[in-house]
Amino acid sequence: MSEGLFITGTDTDVGKTVVSALLTYSFAQKVSTTYFKPIQSGSPTDTATLKSWLPETSTLKVSNPVYEFQMPASPNRAAEAEGRNIDFHYVQKAYRELSQCSFPIVEGAGGLEVPLNSSQTVSDLISILNLPCVLVASTRLGTINHTLLTVHRLRQKNIRCLGFVLNGPEDPGLGELLEHQSGLPLLFHLNWQENIGSHFFAKEWQENRALQTFVEKAVVNQKSENASNFGSINALAELSQKDKSYVWHPFTQHGLVQDHPVVTRAKNSTLWMGDHKVIDAVSSWWVNILGHCHPEISQALKEQVDQLEHVVFAGLTHQPAIELSETLIKITRKKGCRLDKVFFSDNGSTAVEVALKMAHQYQRQSGGNKRHRFLALKGSYHGDTLGAMSVGARGGFHEVFEPLMFNVDFVDPFSETELENAFASLGHELAAVIVEPMVQGAGGMRMYPASFLNRLNVLAKEYGVLVIADEIFTGFYRTGRFFAFEHSELRPDFLCLSKGLTGGYLPLSVTLTGEDIYDSFLGDSFATAFLHGHSYTANPLACRVACQTLEILMRAQFEQDLKRVILTTSECLESLKDKSYFYNHRQLGTVGALEVLNSDGGYFHPQLSYRLHRRALEMGVLLRPLGNTLYSVPPYCTTDEELRKIYSVMNQIVEEEI
Ligand code: PMP
Repeated sequence: MSEGLFITGTDTDVGKTVVSALLTYSFAQKVSTTYFKPIQSGSPTDTATLKSWLPETSTLKVSNPVYEFQMPASPNRAAEAEGRNIDFHYVQKAYRELSQCSFPIVEGAGGLEVPLNSSQTVSDLISILNLPCVLVASTRLGTINHTLLTVHRLRQKNIRCLGFVLNGPEDPGLGELLEHQSGLPLLFHLNWQENIGSHFFAKEWQENRALQTFVEKAVVNQKSENASNFGSINALAELSQKDKSYVWHPFTQHGLVQDHPVVTRAKNSTLWMGDHKVIDAVSSWWVNILGHCHPEISQALKEQVDQLEHVVFAGLTHQPAIELSETLIKITRKKGCRLDKVFFSDNGSTAVEVALKMAHQYQRQSGGNKRHRFLALKGSYHGDTLGAMSVGARGGFHEVFEPLMFNVDFVDPFSETELENAFASLGHELAAVIVEPMVQGAGGMRMYPASFLNRLNVLAKEYGVLVIADEIFTGFYRTGRFFAFEHSELRPDFLCLSKGLTGGYLPLSVTLTGEDIYDSFLGDSFATAFLHGHSYTANPLACRVACQTLEILMRAQFEQDLKRVILTTSECLESLKDKSYFYNHRQLGTVGALEVLNSDGGYFHPQLSYRLHRRALEMGVLLRPLGNTLYSVPPYCTTDEELRKIYSVMNQIVEEEI
């Protein structure tokens, strides 16, 4: 069982509120539980009715509705009558807040396909909240048909149903028949009459075996799921041991690492390692922008998986890739870019390789034969494949591969003079310049001024040099703007995107470029085509998930969360300004970083970085120091409390070390 229960019915007036009340009361005897009916129409509301049933001394928690309408009609009609609209975002937000501290029993409105707004129904709300449901049916005429149709619809929408409850006079054989036909268990039976009032919370129910068994099982399931999807601590230790035997991890010196903690599940900004909760302060290598297991993204993926999982993308196409391309082009147009074509690949490094290869081939095919060099920035990182390594900072992670790399010229992003000199001497030999706009991520969250990019924009135009913007890390609001180049006047000829593109769900990347570049590859022979492609190019699952991610990012309400994260990050950084062991506090958008003063003046020894990382994990925060830099790059749903904890743990781990 997940974080709550959704109570739905085969129709209106079948007893959902009664069942919800009963379940809230019964769960509350075991865990902190709250009744929540987010959308209500007509008077009195079900919340008010439920409250009227409670004895005066009751401490049962009842949350207020998010939407209340006067007209006793379906919620969307009642909302329309008042000139309002039901927006799931607010329901989700209220649910999320509630589920932080309590187990919500969420009551739906009417049956599954009752419209809640012009395009969404109750079943969509259940999917979005990602809750298992209990189905309430009455024992009146027509119930077999209504129940089976509802179960069919729940399965179609991949909603997990724990079982059904029958309400009304005893109807011998009905429960068994429905169990047999639906494949779901009858959880319990009740016969509710209007005037039952507070009897409801009386002893008879607390002694109802079927009800109590269901509640106990659900609570035990919830606890063990919270503890671990694998059941026990021993199982986790065994897995970790097997990991040590069989797995080679990325960017890992296995000689320094004791073991790899097993992550058993995740939700929003929280990772669970068994029953140990950890805040994902690094968005799982900067990919997860909207929170883990986001209900809408999960739902989009579930729907796509039964439609088309993958198909070769050379010679064929599909709707998710087309839709995603159109959306990306429209977004970049709004930002003042002239990008017209989307080339798909499946990781950031490859998106960079593609841009480098396209720029090189374009120059050769359009008379720029002499333009065979690339300019990049000192301190940059563009990936781990050979081409991407070549344009990355030398002497760091990739030193051993230097003999394999091609020659690249580098300039300091803090020196416009170096940039000007490079253009003056090499301007006519450059095919392209590649930059991570505004923030060099892996280089240590180095933030350089927009004026550098403005100068680059002018020089690149003057010398006819292409500009590649690697927004693999900085894209999708990471720096507070949709793209980091928006902080400057630079509008790139190539745009590389990945990481946040799929909300952190699946590997996907894109390289966008303009029609003029695309046209230079046209012809009647393979020789001028762009001969590059990977087996999983434009995987439909990843594309569908990306479309859903972009849809969420484009909602107006999303910016509120973003602004809050930016503001709280700045308060957290400010709170560490007076600590003598921290310096160079800096922030751009949701990226917050500071440097730790090291007694020998150099970079942390990897052993120390690892120790800090492990200590932070123990204290409930996932951090990955970059050299002496500690930073936060959290999912945008991270709460203020979580952000404060991230910075407080940063402070504590350093304080302990010095
Ligand atoms: N470019 C930048 C700016 C990056 O931060 C990264 C990854 N951290 C990459 C490229 C490479 O992406 P990937 O790891 O998906 O290959």
